[in-house]
Amino acid sequence: TRLTEASSVVVIGLGRFGSSLALELMRSGTDVLGIDGDEEIVQAHNGLLTHVVRADSTKEATLRELSVPDFTSVVVAIGGDIQANILTSSLLLKLGIGNIWAKAVSDPHGEILTQLGVHHVIYPEKDMGKRVAHLVRGAMQDYIEIGEDFALVKTTPPALLIGVRLGEAKVRAKHGVTVTAFHREGVGWSYTSLDTVILDGDVILIAGQSARVEAFSQLR
Ligand code: ADP
Repeated sequence: TRLTEASSVVVIGLGRFGSSLALELMRSGTDVLGIDGDEEIVQAHNGLLTHVVRADSTKEATLRELSVPDFTSVVVAIGGDIQANILTSSLLLKLGIGNIWAKAVSDPHGEILTQLGVHHVIYPEKDMGKRVAHLVRGAMQDYIEIGEDFALVKTTPPALLIGVRLGEAKVRAKHGVTVTAFHREGVGWSYTSLDTVILDGDVILIAGQSARVEAFSQLR
C-alpha cells in the first residue's frame, strides 16, 4: 500500500497507548505508519497497520529515511523512556512537522513538551483518571470534558424529567443544563425538541458547566 503522507498519521511507540491509537485510526480509515524500536512489537503489528517499521525515532537520519518529514501528523506515544520521548518530539519540531501530538507521563514532562513547542500535549492517564472519577461517583454512563469547565454527560434521566415536555421542565433555567439528545430502546438516539417527552428507561445526553451536569446527573 502506498501511503499518502498528507492524510496519514505516523505513530511512534506502539505500546498499549500507541497501539490502541494506531488500530483505532486504521479502523476509522486513516493510513498509519507505525514505528517502534522493539522487533516483537513490530512483528505483532505486521498486517494490522499500513506500514510498520523497526527503528529508533531519536535518530534524525532514520526519521528522514522513513519520509517522516513528509507527514503532517505525528503522534509520539513513547511513555516509559522520557528521554526518547523528548528527543523524538524535538526532532519532529526541527523537521517542521505541522501537527505533533506527544504523550506526557507527568506534569513536568508535559511542561517541557509544551515549552519545546509541541502542538498537542496529551496526558492519557491523568485524563482517564479524571474521567473515571466522574463515572464512579454517580449515575453517569459517560463523561467527556469538552473544554475548560464544560462537559457532555450520558446519564439516566432524573424523575423530574420523566413524562414532562422538555419545554415545560425548564431544565436550562432551573438547572443550567441542556438535554441535547436521548436514546430510546428500539429507536436509537434522537435530538431533543421542546416537545420531547423523556420516558423511564431512556438515556439522555446533557451538556453544561461541569459542576451543573455533575449535580444534575446526581438527581434521582
Ligand atoms: P505504554 O505505557 O502506552 O504501553 P510504553 O512506554 O510502555 O507505553 O511503550 C512505548 C513503546 O515505545 C515501546 O513499545 C517501545 O519499544 C517504544 N520505544 C521506546 N523508545 C523508542 C525509540 N527511541 N524509538 C522507537 N520506539 C521506541
